[in-house]
Amino acid sequence: MSPQAQFDIIIIGAGPAGLSFARSLSDTGLQIVLLERHAESTLANPPEDGRDIALTHSSEKIMRDLGMWDHIPETEIGTIRDAKVVNGKSPYALHFASENTDRDYLGHIIPNHIIRQAAYNVVKDLPNVTILTEAEVVGVETNTTAGKVTLKDGTELGAPLVISADSRFSETRRKMGISASMTDFGRVVIVCEMEHTISHNDTASECFHYDQTLAILPMHGNKSSVVVTLATDKADAVMNMPPEAFAADIQRRFDGQLGNMKLVSERHPYPLVGVFASQFVKTRFAVVGDAAVGMHPVTAHGFNLGLTGATILAAEIRSALEGGFDIGASWVLKNYESKHRRIARPLYLGTNALVRLYTDTTVPGRMLRRAALRVGNILPPVKQMITRQLTQI
Ligand SMILES: Cc1cc2nc3c(=O)[nH]c(=O)nc-3n(C[C@H](O)[C@H](O)[C@H](O)COP(=O)(O)OP(=O)(O)OC[C@H]3O[C@@H](n4cnc5c(N)ncnc54)[C@H](O)[C@@H]3O)c2cc1C
Repeated sequence: MSPQAQFDIIIIGAGPAGLSFARSLSDTGLQIVLLERHAESTLANPPEDGRDIALTHSSEKIMRDLGMWDHIPETEIGTIRDAKVVNGKSPYALHFASENTDRDYLGHIIPNHIIRQAAYNVVKDLPNVTILTEAEVVGVETNTTAGKVTLKDGTELGAPLVISADSRFSETRRKMGISASMTDFGRVVIVCEMEHTISHNDTASECFHYDQTLAILPMHGNKSSVVVTLATDKADAVMNMPPEAFAADIQRRFDGQLGNMKLVSERHPYPLVGVFASQFVKTRFAVVGDAAVGMHPVTAHGFNLGLTGATILAAEIRSALEGGFDIGASWVLKNYESKHRRIARPLYLGTNALVRLYTDTTVPGRMLRRAALRVGNILPPVKQMITRQLTQI
């Protein structure tokens, strides 16, 4: 291996996970390079993508520690104080309230493009981090002493540790021979923002109809993030509905609880595929963010989990460095893998089970769903576990 440029860590993908990971090692003196296929202008001003990210208290703390929160305008931060889960037209709701916790809110919600921009802003001027844009990675290989990454233009970069943060359909994970179990839910999620005349009272609502799931997440002011999940073959019809008809349909499904609703953004469709990498690490190589675990968005854990994983890996690298050890040693990477898997696996499997329960239209499935809501309400430990997941730091 004789790469043209040498670094300590190569990170493939400058999405929110790759950027946050680079930022968390910025005071170590390690020379880091981030490789991103998009142009610099896209990182500096990421396009609105319809995703509004519900953040746990733990993610908020990490983002504050990394300085990202300072780059997020107040007017972009929504607050979730309460959450309700409703089954079809039933008035019965599973209710999570911040007043039952030691916090005064369950979480915040921020548009994804604003998070991406904040992550870029805290990394772009760091002296030990180089960001190469319009740099598409086409090759990656590692051996017991080093890793090498090849760009589309033929440039080769070397480092003792290579990290992939290049999305749930990570090409470099595949190139490194790491398989992933993928669950295609056969459904599409359509996300958009809507304004309404009645306040959401900082309450998130998830409503499971039999033909689609509708979630409304409270944003700043009288605006909500609307998330419609439906069978793939029904998605085009909803995407092509005139904006007024779409707004009227959402308003009707929500029984007009938010008053008159108006579509104020594009509608963005995302096919729902859950991905779990069979290994998070290999020789001098690790996957973080969606490249490790691509969650179904119903439980809003994707970025939260990615941030947690990036923080765990950064802490392992930092402690190896402080002990004078090789940062790419397999025991360092294995520590990350076992800690992150322990957190990620139950969340991934639990989320997929929830999705199956709420998309099962058989009679037993519907009965089980009704029962699950009641059990959730009746059994305090179940509710406590879910709210703790959101509010603990
Ligand atoms: C509809 C929806 C709603 C969601 N809601 C929530 C929520 O409420 N809460 C939550 O926590 N999460 C949520 N998520 C998940 C969250 O958006 C993702 O977990 C997060 O964006 C993943 O970040 P990432 O950096 O791992 O990957 P990405 O954002 O996919 O970034 C990967 C980067 O790698 C680059 N790249 C890829 N291949 C290459 C290559 N070969 N060479 C160079 N660069 C490359 C890409 O250009 C991109 O910039 C949601 C997701 C969806 C779809």
